Amino acid sequence: MRREPEETIPVLSVVIPVFNEEECLEEIHRRITIVMRSIVSCYEILFVDDGSKDRSREIVRSLAAEDPCVRGVLLSRNFGQHVAITAGMAESRGRGVVILDADLQDPPEAIPDFFEAFQAGSEVVVSIRSERYDPWTKRVFSWLFWSLINKIAEVPVPRNQSMLRLLSRRACGAILKMGERSRFIGGQVAWIGFSLEEIPVCNDPRHAGVSKYGFWKSVKLLYNAVTSFSTYPLRLISSIGWLIACTSLIVGAILTFLKSTQIVDFASGWASMFVLVSFFGGLNIAMLGVIGLYLGRVYQQAMDRPLYLIEELVGGTRHSSGPAGTPNDGSKLREAGQFGEGF
Ligand code: UDP
Ligand code: MG
Repeated sequence: MRREPEETIPVLSVVIPVFNEEECLEEIHRRITIVMRSIVSCYEILFVDDGSKDRSREIVRSLAAEDPCVRGVLLSRNFGQHVAITAGMAESRGRGVVILDADLQDPPEAIPDFFEAFQAGSEVVVSIRSERYDPWTKRVFSWLFWSLINKIAEVPVPRNQSMLRLLSRRACGAILKMGERSRFIGGQVAWIGFSLEEIPVCNDPRHAGVSKYGFWKSVKLLYNAVTSFSTYPLRLISSIGWLIACTSLIVGAILTFLKSTQIVDFASGWASMFVLVSFFGGLNIAMLGVIGLYLGRVYQQAMDRPLYLIEELVGGTRHSSGPAGTPNDGSKLREAGQFGEGF
C-alpha cells in the first residue's frame, strides 16, 4: 500500500451516495463546507454517483473542479445506496468517515456532535431519528423493518437509525473486510461490535426531489437485511414444516380413530380438502422461496463479480485507483485490511 504524507491525510472524509439528486447537491456541499471548516483543517467530501440519469454527475464534476476538497466517485451504473456507500468508504482516506444521504434529511450541522464523540473515543457514532417527517406508510414500514431486524439478527441493531454516522478508520476497515455482496450498512456497523454511541438527531424533510426508495426497493432492502444477518427464516420454516407434519400425524390418528369407532361419519368434504391443499401448497411454495433466497445469495457470492465498477474518479488526488477513467472495481474490498489500521 502506498503511504501518503501525514499532512495530506484528511481528518474527516464525508461520503455521500447520490442517485438523481441534482437539486440537492449544491446545497449539501454549501452546508457541509461550512460545518467542516468550523471543526477540522483538512477534510474531503466524496460524492458517490450511483448511476444518476439527471444532472447529478455534471454537478459533481463542477463541484470537484471548483473545490479541491471535493472528490467524485462515479459508478458505472446504479448499484444501490449501500454499495455506493461501500465504494465511498473504500475510496475515502480520512481518519474518520462520516456518511450521510444527499437529500439533507440528515442535517450536516449535527456532524460536530458526532466528531466530539469520535474524539472522545467512540469508534462508531450512529444517529437515531428523534423526529421524522416521512409519510406514515414509510414510518410504519420503518418500524416493521427495525423490529424484524432486531428480532432475528444475532446482534442488537440500533433501531430507527438514519444514515448519518461517523466511523473510525478502524471500523471502516473492518466493514470493508466483510466480503458479502448484499451490503446492509446499518447491520454491518452493529455486527463489528466496536464501541458504539447513539446520538438522537431530528430528521428534516427532504430538501428537494422524491424518495428513491419505492415499495419494491424497500422490500428488497428488507430481504437483503434479513438474509444477511440471520438464517432465522430457514430455521423458522423448518420448524413450521415439522409442526405441520406432526400435527397432521396426530389429526390423522384422531380421524382414523373416530372413523373406525363410527363416532363421526365423514361425508364428502371437497371444500375443506380444497382449502387444505391450496393452503399447504402455498405454504410449500413460500418456504421453497425462502430457501431460494438463500440459494440465490450463495450463487451470487460464488460468481464473485466485483461489487461495483467505478467509471471515473474526479477531483482530489487519484491516490489508489489508476488513471482517471480506468474502470476500477470493488475487488480491493477483499484486501481491505489495508484500510483498517490494526487489522
Ligand atoms: N441512493 C443511492 N442509490 C439508490 C437509491 C438511493 O445512492 O439506488 C441515495 C440517494 O440519492 C440518497 C440516499 O441514497 O442520498 C437515500 O435515499 P432516499 O433519501 O431516497 O431514501 P429515503 O430517505 O427516502 O429512505
Ligand atoms: Mg432520504
